[in-house]
Amino acid sequence: MFNRIAIIGLGLIGGSIARMVKKKCESVYITAYGRKPESLYNAVKEGFIDEVASIDAIDCKNVDLFIVATPVLSSITIINSLLNDPQLESGALIIDAGSVKQPIIDFVINHDKAHRFVGCHPMAGSEKSGYTFSTHSILTGAWVIITPHQKNNDADIAAIKNFWEMLECRIHITDAATHDKMVASTSHLPHIVSSALMECFFSAHNDVNPFDMQPFIGKGFKDMTRLAGGSPDMWADIVLSNNANIIAVLEDYLQSVIKVTDIIREAAQSADRGLLCQYFEEVQNKWNKYHA
Ligand code: NAD
Repeated sequence: MFNRIAIIGLGLIGGSIARMVKKKCESVYITAYGRKPESLYNAVKEGFIDEVASIDAIDCKNVDLFIVATPVLSSITIINSLLNDPQLESGALIIDAGSVKQPIIDFVINHDKAHRFVGCHPMAGSEKSGYTFSTHSILTGAWVIITPHQKNNDADIAAIKNFWEMLECRIHITDAATHDKMVASTSHLPHIVSSALMECFFSAHNDVNPFDMQPFIGKGFKDMTRLAGGSPDMWADIVLSNNANIIAVLEDYLQSVIKVTDIIREAAQSADRGLLCQYFEEVQNKWNKYHA
């Protein structure tokens, strides 16, 4: 177990990890680093963080685990500066929580201390952001994807796996490229579709007072647009760093939208209700496979 942890970026994910670590092992000493450390004092008062400090003055001495939980592109810079820090202890490991993995690994892989970095992605969270919304419970039972690279060693991967398991997470290990391709479909596409739906709705009804729309907004609309409330800062980094995979799945998605539009048109023109039943039945069967 790690005795001294530094969390860089005490937001939704960093804060949730801190809470769960303290719940499981109160004696672990946690320092949180942020751009405005004074905004993190609440976490000290609540007992989830022992000390806060500025991100410009990270003290690597005696720290055995760094958790970088900032937006992906800033994580790359932070991880690189940790690897470059001469005070980095010889056994210290650095993990991140970023939603995209390959660009981080590409950046660090030629560093002589690249083996210290182990890419991680907790598949936990929500459209909310910031420490205020953090809670240990988002990690309970959540999958954490660990993406080892060729310079990692088995003992370090095992130590990181144990760490997440101690936080009650389930582990899946795969390579970064597979991770990025999969989450483009399961996480990034849904976010973009939710944003586009919100944008489309707003364009169609921007002359209507939002208050007057309320009677028409049911649970389905709220479910489908919930993700559009996510942090623009975080999503800009995700989309930029996984753009090729995202564009590929968006193109597939556009084909699906065209397909269903054609089916509706054909069913209407030929008064063939069966065409629509068949389409929705096929989709429902696929849905059942993933929601069993
Ligand atoms: P968040 O906005 O709640 O927290 C981000 C933290 O990073 C904040 O403390 C913020 O002040 C800090 N930060 C932002 N930009 C920074 C910069 N340039 N330099 C230094 N610090 C900076 O976001 P989050 O939801 O906790 O996400 C953190 C990471 O975890 C991201 O990489 C994200 O991709 C990943 N992630 C998010 C979710 C989710 O659902 N929110 C799920 C899994 C992984």
